[in-house]
Amino acid sequence: MKVSFNQLDRGYIKYKEEYKKEAIDTLESGLYILGGKLEKFEKEFANYIGARYCIGVNSGLDSLILAFRALNIGLGDEVIVPSNTYIASVLGITENGATPIFVEPDEYYNLDADKLEEKITINTKAILVVHLYGQAANMKKIKEIADKYDLFIIEDCAQSHGAAFLDKKTGSWGDIGCFSFYPTKNIGAFGDGGAIVTDNENIREKILMLRNYGSKVKYHNEITGINSRLDEIQASLLSVKLRHYNEIRKERSVLADKYLGGIKNNKVILPKIRKNAEQVWHLFVVRIENRDKFQLYLSESEIATQIHYPIPVHLSNAYESFGYRRGDFPITELYANTVISLPLYEGMTDEEINYVIDTINNYEG
Ligand SMILES: *Cc1c(COP(=O)(O)O)cnc(C)c1O
Repeated sequence: MKVSFNQLDRGYIKYKEEYKKEAIDTLESGLYILGGKLEKFEKEFANYIGARYCIGVNSGLDSLILAFRALNIGLGDEVIVPSNTYIASVLGITENGATPIFVEPDEYYNLDADKLEEKITINTKAILVVHLYGQAANMKKIKEIADKYDLFIIEDCAQSHGAAFLDKKTGSWGDIGCFSFYPTKNIGAFGDGGAIVTDNENIREKILMLRNYGSKVKYHNEITGINSRLDEIQASLLSVKLRHYNEIRKERSVLADKYLGGIKNNKVILPKIRKNAEQVWHLFVVRIENRDKFQLYLSESEIATQIHYPIPVHLSNAYESFGYRRGDFPITELYANTVISLPLYEGMTDEEINYVIDTINNYEG
């Protein structure tokens, strides 16, 4: 049997008629950018997250870049960010000229709140929290520290749509929540997309301008902006996905439970669930020594896996100029060398997941 890492067409097929209807409706409306479909989705998404406003943008990366820009965070400012994340989180900071200050992760792969306070300096302006793999970070503690030092919180929720901590959804804890609708994300579009959520009206106004060349009224440019708008087709298709997201979440969680209950190989370290945190299982990540050998074994059994992420951001060539060395963030580096993500997707069959579980259980190392 062959198991792919993702199979996006299966997610489409399940609600095919609704997607087709929305797509045709949008095509026939004659309005393709900044229309009613986007406004509708923005209301629905803000409502789902529990925020006052949502502003659709072009991608998750743009949502991060514009979040810092809206808060006037730039040159000379420091932003605390987990060292264990996807490079896009850090690009959101450096694209504005600000400096990322890395913090090691906890055993749940998220920013270790106990190591946060020691990183704060006079130049610290914000904390960028990333809710990695679908699990919320320890937001209570992080919020307490942010309030104590009067820092902004920006949440990178690209992997955590609907995940919550203490029953409050990620994206609604901080000043700004940033989302990606890249096709493989839990709420994925059929192309690029992203969104910002906030309760703050001034931030909303500023992002509305920033995403549209810096203008509220056409050709009246108040500030310098960019072009980053979630288009009507994507917004209308995202409304369909959001409508069914509770079922989609349920399906992902049933699959995750199968892995958690079925994998019985003491070489494999299973993911832990944080107390008071809800997991939406964007990725099912396990750890194992000699990871590359294990990945090869699975690949020889025709099971596709991925590594999230093989090179920690502080060691990537892109940030060579920061001068970090191997050993600077040992926990992050250990994770990068030992993590492996197993297939988990909408429409994955029992036969497929059982095959993955059996194959893992038969691994002798
Ligand atoms: C996917 C992702 C992003 C970037 O989203 P895009 O829509 O691909 O730009 C940012 N942060 C994290 C943690 C992500 O997983």
